[in-house]
Amino acid sequence: MLIVMKMNADADTVGAVVEKIESRGLKAHPIPGAQRTAIGITGNLGVVEPGLFETLPGVLEVIQVSHPYKLVSREFRPDDTVVDVGGVRIGGTDLVIIAGPCSVESYEQMRRIAQRVKEAGAHLLRGGAYKPRTSPYSFQGLGREGLEILARVREETGLPVVTEALDIDVLDEVAEVADMVQIGARNMQNFSLLKRAGRCGKPVLLKRGPSATVTELLLAAEYILDQGNDRVVLCERGIRTFADHTRNTLDVSAIPAVQRISHLPILADPSHAAGMANKVLPLSRAAVAVGANGLMVEVHDRPTEALSDANQAITPDQFETLVGVVRSLAPVVGRRLAGLSAARR
Ligand code: PEP
Ligand code: MN
Repeated sequence: MLIVMKMNADADTVGAVVEKIESRGLKAHPIPGAQRTAIGITGNLGVVEPGLFETLPGVLEVIQVSHPYKLVSREFRPDDTVVDVGGVRIGGTDLVIIAGPCSVESYEQMRRIAQRVKEAGAHLLRGGAYKPRTSPYSFQGLGREGLEILARVREETGLPVVTEALDIDVLDEVAEVADMVQIGARNMQNFSLLKRAGRCGKPVLLKRGPSATVTELLLAAEYILDQGNDRVVLCERGIRTFADHTRNTLDVSAIPAVQRISHLPILADPSHAAGMANKVLPLSRAAVAVGANGLMVEVHDRPTEALSDANQAITPDQFETLVGVVRSLAPVVGRRLAGLSAARR
């Protein structure tokens, strides 16, 4: 349920409505807007009687939200959410590009790749220190050492870093270093991890599960917002279909579908969708064309030596081409590639 306050409702009037909501054992989420304040209500297991609130001073209307998601919906917040990640703004009209290797392999590797993607125009650096691998015998990531490498390379390049928290055990450690904490596709419905991510104090990049519907993705994000963290960026990274010409199928239609329902930004990850380097550029074009808020791309300067996802890694040169294409394509859909802040130039 959503309570829309009258334009002239002052802080005390809003506070009185919040008190009334909380006195019923419900949670109130005031959402100040340019024109008026709205107050979202969650925690109601059944139907809440609108009459309870309609007659309170300052209340304009009470809207029943029929969808299972609430805080992530545009009914709760009509304007696009812009998430600030170490000074890089994701959401709104500017496109943002996250680039880097699948895994942090060594300081030298990260430094070389970070330098190249920065020169090519990347806004954020990625690299997994804790890796979700299908096989227990595959490279599992450098762990804490990987986080230290990321922190050092951020210091040297000025690029904010995005890295995955694989489980609750490492979440705090990851959140301490990361500018944005990634929740991977396989963990999209790890509800205890989502709740903790909602309290971690950092922006969260939530990747869509390989068999998750858009509703399930939004409900997973709802867990994070419900814990008080509204700095959530979604990511479409391909879903599992019968197609076997790519690793996954990039569900480009999910991007406008999410944007219609939700105020949260959504990126596309063409690398994990394609699973092969030669499809990363065309899928990036498609993602920009449907209106994604940005891209996350895996880049490695020695792809054949990559310790994970070698087949889908594009080279720094190919990445440079990709950035150029995104820059020229963006205006066609009313966007532009975000600039670099003075600190990172
Ligand atoms: C990744 O981004 O490194 C990753 C493992 O992606 P996903 O969770 O989408 O498979
Ligand atoms: Mn990967």
